[in-house]
Amino acid sequence: DAVVYWMRMEDLRVNDNRALSRASELAVKNKIPLLALFVLSPQDYIAHDRSPRRIDFTLRNLRVIQKSLAELHIPLHVVSHSPRTTLPSKVLSILAEWNANHLFANIEYEVDELRRDVKICELARKEGKVQCTFVHDKCVITPGLVKTKEGRAYTVYSPFLRAWIPHLVDKPDPLACAPSPQPNAKSIHDHHVFGKLFESTVPEYVEGFKLESDDAQQMEICWKAGEDVASEMLNRFLHTKARSSQFGASDPLEDGAKMVEKNPGKESRIGKYKDARDRVDADTTSRLSPYLAAGIISARQCIRATVELPSSKNKVDVSRDTGVGRWVQEVAWRDFYTHVLANFPRVSMGRPFQEKFADVEWETNEEHLQAWKDGKTGVPIVDASMRQAKTMGWMHNRGRMIAAMYLTKDLMIDWRLGEKHFMEVLIDGDLASNNGGWQWSASTGVDPAPYFRIFNPYTQSQKVDPTGEYIRHFVPELEKLRGDELHHPSPKLAEKLGYPVPFVRHDEARERAIRRYKTPGSK
Ligand code: FAD
Repeated sequence: DAVVYWMRMEDLRVNDNRALSRASELAVKNKIPLLALFVLSPQDYIAHDRSPRRIDFTLRNLRVIQKSLAELHIPLHVVSHSPRTTLPSKVLSILAEWNANHLFANIEYEVDELRRDVKICELARKEGKVQCTFVHDKCVITPGLVKTKEGRAYTVYSPFLRAWIPHLVDKPDPLACAPSPQPNAKSIHDHHVFGKLFESTVPEYVEGFKLESDDAQQMEICWKAGEDVASEMLNRFLHTKARSSQFGASDPLEDGAKMVEKNPGKESRIGKYKDARDRVDADTTSRLSPYLAAGIISARQCIRATVELPSSKNKVDVSRDTGVGRWVQEVAWRDFYTHVLANFPRVSMGRPFQEKFADVEWETNEEHLQAWKDGKTGVPIVDASMRQAKTMGWMHNRGRMIAAMYLTKDLMIDWRLGEKHFMEVLIDGDLASNNGGWQWSASTGVDPAPYFRIFNPYTQSQKVDPTGEYIRHFVPELEKLRGDELHHPSPKLAEKLGYPVPFVRHDEARERAIRRYKTPGSK
C-alpha cells in the first residue's frame, strides 16, 4: 500500500498545501509510504498557451521542492507524458506500479483539468483499486461558499467582497499542517522501487518550451525559485519601505535587503499601498503574483501574515480603506475571478461573459497587433508596459489595464488575442485572473469597465508615471524627454527620435469603439 500526492502546476509548495497535508496524515496514520508525483504535459501547455517562462519557473521550483520533500522522506517523481488524452490512465498506471491505493490532489478549476480529473475518478472507480480525493486549495475562501441570498454565484465584485470578508474575519480556515517526516523512512529508502524514486531528476527543460539562455538568466534574477523566496517577498512587502523604482534585471530581494527596515509601519510598502499602488514608476506592490499563480505561497498564508501585522490593529481592518485593507481586497480579486471560473466554465472557453458583446466587430490587423506586442505602438505608456512584460515576464497591474484597453478599444483588436499573448509572455499567467482582467478591460466580462469608459492612455500616463522614470527606462528612445513631451510626443518629435507614430488618434478611436459596442455587428 502507498499514498500518492499528485502535485500540479498551481501548488508548488510544501506548507499549507491541503492535498499534501491530507495525504501525509493518511500515510502516517496507516504507516504506509507517501510518494509525490508530478506529470509534465507538453500538449496541455500548448493548448493553454503556457509561457516557456512559466514552464521554466515550474521546473526550477520542482527542483527546490524535490529537496524539501526528500528531507521528509517523500520522493518526488517527475515524468513527462503525451498525448494528454491518455494522462488519466497514465497516472493510474503509475499508481498501479507503486501498488498505491490512495490519490490526493488539489482541484484545478479550468475545464480541461476538471474533465481530466473526472475521468481519473471514473477509471479508478471502474478498476476499484484507487480511492481519489480532490481538495479545494487555491482560494482564500473556497468557491461555492460565497453566495448571494438566492444561493447564486456573484458576478459583481463589490457585493462579492462584502460577502467574502465575513468569511475571512469570522471563520478563517486554519492553515493546513505541513506534512510530517515519514516515520518509516528506512523502509522507504530501502524499498526496491520507492528507493529509486529518490534518484528521479527534474528535466532541464520541456521540449518546445526551452528559454534562450539570456532570458533564463534574467528570469532567475527577477524570480528566484522556492517557498523561502516567496516568504521573503511577502516580508519585503509587509516590512520594508518602497524605493522609487525597480525595473529590469535586478533582484528584488537583494535590493530590498539594502534598505531593510523592520516594522516601519505606515512607511512599509503595504502601509503605502492605498495611495501608491497605481504608481508604475515605483516598486510599491508585492510582486507576489508569480508565486501565487504557481502556488509557491498560498493566498491564505499571505492574508494570515497580513492580518497579524501589529499595524492591523484588529482583523476588521481588512474591510477598511487602509493599505492593509486595500491589499487584502486586491487578493480578493484573485478569489473572485477564480470563483467566476469555477461557476461559469464558459469563461475558459473563449466566450465573452456577456454574450451581447459576442458580435462586436474587431479589426484584423497583424501589423498593429505585432507593434502592440513589441511595444512599438507609438504610445509611450503602452509601449513601456509591453516592454516591461517582454523584459521581466511581469507587468504592473495599471500597465496591464492600460495596454489591454489600448488593444481592445483604441486598436479595436479582439481581447482574446491579447489574452493569449499575455499568457505566452508572462511568468504569472493564470487563466482566471488573466481572463478576468482582459474581459474587464474589453468590457465583456463580469463586473466590467462600462464600454463607454475608455482610458485615455495619455492622461493615464501622467497619473501613473508622474516622474516619467518608467517610460524612460523601458523606452530609451525617449530618455531625454520630460513632461508632456514624454507622455505624448508629437509625430514630428517621435520621427526625429526614431520612435513610432501612433496608428490611431485616441479621440477618433474612442468614438469608433463606442459605436461598435453600442451596436454590436456595426462597423
Ligand atoms: P499586488 O498589488 O501586490 O496584489 C497582490 C496579489 O493579489 C497579486 O499577486 C494577485 O495574486 C492578486 N491580484 C491583485 N490584483 C488582481 C486583479 N486585478 N485580478 C486578480 N488578482 C489580483 N494576475 C495574475 O496573477 N495572472 C495573470 O495572468 C493576470 N493577468 C492580468 C491581465 C490583465 C489584462 C489585467 C488587467 C490584470 C491581470 N492580472 C493577472 C491581475 C494583476 O494585474 C496582477 O495580479 C498584479 O499586477 C500582480 O502584481 P503584484 O503581485 O505586485 O500585485
